[in-house]
Amino acid sequence: MVKYKRVLLKLSGEQLAGKFDNGIDPELAAWLAKEIEKISAAGTQVVIMVGGGNFVRGAQIAGHGIQRVTADHMGMLATMINALALTDIFEDEGVRTRCLSNIFAEQVAEPFVHRLANKHLQKGRVVILAGGSGRPYVTTDTAAVVLGLELGCDGVFKATKVDGVYNKDPAKHKNATRLNNIPHQKAVEDIDIKIMDKAALGLALEHKMPIIIFDALKKDNLLKAVSGKPVGTTIH
Ligand code: UDP
Repeated sequence: MVKYKRVLLKLSGEQLAGKFDNGIDPELAAWLAKEIEKISAAGTQVVIMVGGGNFVRGAQIAGHGIQRVTADHMGMLATMINALALTDIFEDEGVRTRCLSNIFAEQVAEPFVHRLANKHLQKGRVVILAGGSGRPYVTTDTAAVVLGLELGCDGVFKATKVDGVYNKDPAKHKNATRLNNIPHQKAVEDIDIKIMDKAALGLALEHKMPIIIFDALKKDNLLKAVSGKPVGTTIH
């Protein structure tokens, strides 16, 4: 029996780039499809919020004539590129998947409609969300918590390079130790905890949405996470 019956998995663009500097690593995406297939088979419904940082991050490119809102629109379109690629690769791996977009793009993806997303999930399809929340000034971290709440997910799983939150930077300090559990309040208040946007953490605190920060690119970690086995850091 899985502990998490419906989860929102947040994947960053940087992770999708895998061995490349930018763009998408199709081998890694195919491997991920198989990991996701395992948790679907175990009984977990899966929503994926995909980032776009492998192409564009709004806050970084705003300025020099590009308005912030336009920059964020560009970022959201970058998430669309990733979502379309993932959808095809997942289906090619035999994982039934639908791409729903929070920006108007009917030619390329179904629009995000709450009931439609629920229907796909109930039928066991993986729902890949494109376009973040559809609104500027936030990132896909915040969009992940918003959509996780909207779709009644039991948890938001944020995939990161480092396996959780550490007391100091594990890349610089050999004696860094992982924090297995962090209360929401601390995650919001501690300025040294930069693993996720504070807006996302604040929303999670207000609605008591558990967040798991973990390395999804390690074999079977996703399955362990949905089964309630200890992986990474749980914010709750
Ligand atoms: N973005 C946005 N609204 C959203 C989600 C994303 O405006 O609801 C834009 C924002 O500019 C962001 C970019 O899309 O920087 C790409 O998303 P993000 O930076 O979260 O990607 P990641 O770092 O996870 O790859």
